[in-house]
Amino acid sequence: MGTGVSRKPEKATEEEKKQRKRKRKTKQTITRAVTHIRLIEANAGKLDALDQLVTVFQALCQQYVTLFCTAYETPDKYAAPVFETELSERWHRVAIQQAAGIAKSWRTNRQAATSAYVEDLADYAEAKARATASGEPFGCGRKEPAWHEWKLLELRAPCIQANANVVVVEPSEDSTFDYWLTISTLDKGNPLRVPVRLASFHKQVITGHALNTSTTLHKRKGIWWLTLSFDEDVPLQTEPSAPPVGVDVGIANLLTTSTGKHYGSFHGKLRKRQKRDREKRHRKAKLRACLKKKGVEKLPSTSSATGQRLARHVRQSINQAVNLMLEDHPEAQIIYEDLSVSSMRFKARAMNAYLYASQLAHLPEQIAWATAKRGIAAHTVKAAYSSQECSRCHYPDRANRPDQKTFKCVVCVYEDHADHNTSVNLARRFGDKELAACRNKGEIKALLMKRYEDWKQKNRLAVVEPPVQLGLWARSETSTDVG
Ligand SMILES: [Zn+2]
Repeated sequence: MGTGVSRKPEKATEEEKKQRKRKRKTKQTITRAVTHIRLIEANAGKLDALDQLVTVFQALCQQYVTLFCTAYETPDKYAAPVFETELSERWHRVAIQQAAGIAKSWRTNRQAATSAYVEDLADYAEAKARATASGEPFGCGRKEPAWHEWKLLELRAPCIQANANVVVVEPSEDSTFDYWLTISTLDKGNPLRVPVRLASFHKQVITGHALNTSTTLHKRKGIWWLTLSFDEDVPLQTEPSAPPVGVDVGIANLLTTSTGKHYGSFHGKLRKRQKRDREKRHRKAKLRACLKKKGVEKLPSTSSATGQRLARHVRQSINQAVNLMLEDHPEAQIIYEDLSVSSMRFKARAMNAYLYASQLAHLPEQIAWATAKRGIAAHTVKAAYSSQECSRCHYPDRANRPDQKTFKCVVCVYEDHADHNTSVNLARRFGDKELAACRNKGEIKALLMKRYEDWKQKNRLAVVEPPVQLGLWARSETSTDVG
């Protein structure tokens, strides 16, 4: 009887799930940020109350970030308050929520880095054992992976992610301003009222949309800035039958598609700029060390303006590459790797750490954002072994990659541009339920080995034939490859 009772609601939720899925296919909701709204200081010292507030807020937020990163398994934005503060209860909650968000992404990234390290270590041990068994020399150019513990986060730039409990945005009755911002302060019952004037392009963007109640306030170089946001429904333009196009994300080529195209690169100009910047920072660090030795108290800063300019330039190059790629594939579903900041860092380290991982991580983010904005369907798939797997026979092996840009299967001798081979694999992983169900890298490798065995069975006779015949398999094997 118990099962009969519980089954009914279960069915209903299944039906609900299906309905939600159907809905998701016709449109997607994106949150648009309206940035760079400068807070007007009507008279000198008007924003002093905000400065005082953020000092206390930031210190409290930092305490919770450290707590959530060290003591709590999972950062919880509803966690009970544990620190003393002069902030109101509502502000206290906002600080906890903001800290939980920051700590959560720190923990996720650290976790991903840990598993990447563990896998790399296993890879290394395996290769070493293989070399020892075969009596070959091991270690030329390959270092044992080392774990570097992550630094705890230190909040620097003053920033408040507020909600309507503490900061209220209201349209202004007066035509001189667009909105009034009411910020509750340390001085209870005495909120700060700040007028907000929007630029015409801000107004254009917002017209016809209801603003979200959450706001962000941050201070840079002595100036307070406000960020507003609103939700927008974007109808999905891509047909469900549109061909999947795999996109590999990398450094030599920012993007490579399974249709055989490359977009952008970190090499060339960007790399030169980065090298110059690094040398400059090294010189500065040397100077600092020297001055410190001599007992100089006020040391020159280590942050570099050129570094920030470079980062901006990299982001622009990335955006450009993504836009070009989407223009070239208007009728396609974009399939890309589900990469986290830390795995990008990993990818960067393997490739000589050309660029800061945070810049590299901008790539998948930009793909997600640019496709959502245009109503283009985009999906992430599991990336494990996608660069080592042979897109013809599935055999996964590091040895299939003799160098960074070459793919050459050690079994079926299939040869391809390495990034293209990866993008073909990614495209094919879309809708691959068996692969999606794998819980870790080991299971994925086992599945690929099984597929390779199947492939070998099917092509038993042909395997010994010279590559002349291989074209035939390529066609039947890569039925989902649109290239
Ligand atoms: Zn192969």
